[in-house]
Amino acid sequence: MTDIISTVSTAVTLALRLKDISKNIENAEFKNILADLSLELSEVKLKLADLLSENAELKEKIHTITSATGTLCPSCNNRTYKLISSEPDPVFGDLGANSRLYKCSSCNFSETVMSQ
Ligand SMILES: [Zn+2]
Repeated sequence: MTDIISTVSTAVTLALRLKDISKNIENAEFKNILADLSLELSEVKLKLADLLSENAELKEKIHTITSATGTLCPSCNNRTYKLISSEPDPVFGDLGANSRLYKCSSCNFSETVMSQ
């Protein structure tokens, strides 16, 4: 990624040098194209910043999923399936049965399971 950043920075620097040089050139088409090039480079720089930010978020997400130590999710198969709450079952609570809510932080699958 740093290679891309330095490449774009070099391109911006080259465009700025061309702009300086163009002060001695009286060619309108040249100046217009140079202005367009500068705009395009600015756009590339902004989009690159967005991509770098998205990439960092995705890396963080992958790390969270691959380093999770919870139970295997029956829906997405990641170890991000965890017990959220446990309370007496509304029907069989008097007999000692609990109603447990499990939820997956990766795919949002959730299920309530009765346990004893
Ligand atoms: Zn899941």
